Order: sequence, then structure tokens, then C-alpha cells
Amino acid sequence: MKFVTVGAGPCGLHVSQLLLKQGHEVTILEEHDRVGAPIHCAGLVGKKLVDKFGSRHVINNIDGAHIFLNDTGFFLKRKNVAFVLDRYGFDRSFAIDISIEYDQRVVSVAKDPSGKFHIKTPGSSICADAIIGADGPVSIVRKSLEMKSSIRYFSGCQQRIRTELEDEHMVIVDINRPFFSWAIPEGNGIVRVGAIGSMKGVDAMREKFGIKGEVIDFIQAPIPVGRAELVKDGAFLLGDAAAQTKPTTGGGLYYGLRGAELLAKAVGEGAPERYQKYWNKEFGREIRLGLAARRLYEHISKNDLSLLFSVLMEKKKYIEAEADFEKHSTAIKTFLLNPKTLSVIMRNLKLFLH
Ligand SMILES: Cc1cc2nc3c(=O)[nH]c(=O)nc-3n(C[C@H](O)[C@H](O)[C@H](O)COP(=O)(O)OP(=O)(O)OC[C@H]3O[C@@H](n4cnc5c(N)ncnc54)[C@H](O)[C@@H]3O)c2cc1C
Repeated sequence: MKFVTVGAGPCGLHVSQLLLKQGHEVTILEEHDRVGAPIHCAGLVGKKLVDKFGSRHVINNIDGAHIFLNDTGFFLKRKNVAFVLDRYGFDRSFAIDISIEYDQRVVSVAKDPSGKFHIKTPGSSICADAIIGADGPVSIVRKSLEMKSSIRYFSGCQQRIRTELEDEHMVIVDINRPFFSWAIPEGNGIVRVGAIGSMKGVDAMREKFGIKGEVIDFIQAPIPVGRAELVKDGAFLLGDAAAQTKPTTGGGLYYGLRGAELLAKAVGEGAPERYQKYWNKEFGREIRLGLAARRLYEHISKNDLSLLFSVLMEKKKYIEAEADFEKHSTAIKTFLLNPKTLSVIMRNLKLFLH
């Protein structure tokens, strides 16, 4: 079968590698002139991802987090709970021994009556039996083929700052609204300070935690949160193009790379449409509960948010021992059993159920 993958990000490359191994023909089109740049990521991932893909591109290990709401904060400690990636090197590791057509920006995709896809770039047109849209948050594949979606975009902003940190192995997370902000030490006196919302969130984070120093670089890119149709008659969406991200934090590497494996598995079984079913089985509950948690976080009163934060503090021991960095649903379900959480949910039932 001849596939075209649009987008040479980690998800598009991973699925392409897996399909090539199955003996399919795969053409990869990438709008930039190389893999891994520009980088739109804080590079924080959990142990599961590192166990699967190796630690060659890990540049720092994280032993916990200092979590804040307003002026209240508490520590969560667990050795090697997360890792900081050199995202450039990580992405490039998926491009080994694979041919990529660079400077090929896909501008439209159409399907003819015989079922073939015609993929247009400014200078050419390619024909394929199947197409994979791994082309990031504002996917042209999704748009051209009118694949259904319900996605909200959040502005992800981040600065890399040269500075002195007290502890190079603890992240700071501030959930004070309207921003969700972080400071992630990458080692060697550099910290990634970011926020979901706007650069104002980054400034506020720096001000609050006294993070001074030279800004080495900065990024601003959309983070998609929600759901999308993954399969439509030979067309597939993957990674950020399919909003395969954690609704709570926007982290997408683990979800998207796992999505690539589920798609390849379905294709390998000769039943590509099963990709949607496999995704729903593994991540449906994550997305559903994550979206409910996000709605509550955004809209409940200050008092209710403080109440939920107090439950988080009470559950510190449980989170330290049990919480899964990549899958938040188990932790969320444990919070749901707490009477304080239940009282907040009952007051905001419409938001929770939506
Ligand atoms: C500020 C910020 C911080 C983040 N931090 C984290 C984090 O700490 N941990 C985590 O897990 N996730 C994080 N994420 C999310 C993570 O970066 C994404 O989920 C991940 O990059 C998705 O990979 P992908 O392969 O789906 O898409 P991408 O990495 O976006 O790759 C898509 C590729 O498609 C190409 N492309 C796009 N359009 C076209 C076109 N028309 N034609 C040809 N090529 C095209 C692009 O050039 C790109 O190479 C963060 C995101 C942001 C914005």
C-alpha cells in the first residue's frame, strides 16, 4: 500500500518507520528543511516514554515538583519521576535511515472517485492510496478532508533562560489562573520557563519566582486540546493533528507516539479502521476525564479551586507513590472519591458532565 505521511515530527516519523517495516511504501513530506526545528516543546516526559525510546536524548532527570496555587505551595518528591529531553536530538533519532522530502509544504489534499488521494505542494502533486496527517495542530490534512474535530487551541509560550537555580532536579508548576505555568531545569544553568495562555504568564512566573537571567530563545506555538476523527476512508490523523494531547497539561509526545503505534498495529492487521477503536480503548477515558478536569479548572470559583488544591495536598503521599505521569485518569478518579472534591463537583455538575 502506498502511504503519504504529511509532517516529519516525531509522530509522523515513528508511524512511517513502523509502516516501512511492514513493507509498505511511505513518502514523507515536510515543510521545513530538516527534522527537529523549530522546537515547540518543554521536553518534559515521563519514565514510560524514556523506557520505550531510550535515554540517549535525556539531558536532565527530574526528582519532583513544587506545585503552587497563589502563595500556597507543596513539594511532590519521586526520584526520576520525569525527564527533560533534548527535543532536537529526540526528533532526529526517528529520522535515521528514512528518506524525507524536505521543503514540501502540503497546501491541499483531495480524494478522487476511485479512492486515491492527491496531495498538492506548491510545486508538485503526489498520488497515494492512504494519507496520514501528522502535520501538527493546524493540520491541513484534517481541514482539506473535512475530518470532524472539536479542538481548542491554547497558546504555549516558553523562554529558555540562563540562570542559577537552587535545585536543578525539581520543576516548579504554578496553576494560578489564568495561566498554567512551569519552570523546568534542563541542566547546565538553563531553565525552560513557560506558560499556557500568553507570554504574560511567563513574565508572571519569572517575577513570582525571581527567575532572572539572559533569555537564550523563546517559542510561542498552539497547543491543541480536544478530540478529532482519526479515520476517514483511508485518511488518518495522528499526534497534534488529532489533538492527541493531555487535556490537563497539553503534553503530547507520549500520546502521539503511542497513537503512531496503534495506527501501525491496525494497518498491520489489515484493518486500519481499528485505529480509532484502539485509541478510544486506551485513551478515551483519559481524554474524557482530562477535559472534565480542564473545564473545572477554568471555570470554578476561586474558593472551589482552593478546595481542590487542598485535596491535592492531602493526597501528596498517594501522588508521590502512585500517580502516572502520562495517564492522569487514575489520579483524577482517586480525587473523585474525596468528599471535598465531590462537593465541588456537585456545585459544578454541568461543567463536569458537559
Ligand atoms: C510551548 C510548548 C511546550 C510543550 N511541552 C511539552 C512537554 O513538555 N511534553 C510533551 O510531551 N509535549 C509538550 N508539548 C507538545 C508537543 O510538543 C507536541 O505534542 C508534539 O510535538 C506533537 O508531535 P507531532 O509529531 O504530532 O507534531 P509536530 O512536532 O508539530 O510535527 C508536525 C510536523 O509537520 C510539519 N508540517 C506542518 N504542516 C505541514 C504541511 N502543510 N506540509 C508539510 N509539513 C507540515 C511541521 O513542520 C512539523 O515538522 C509542548 C508544546 C508546546 C507548544
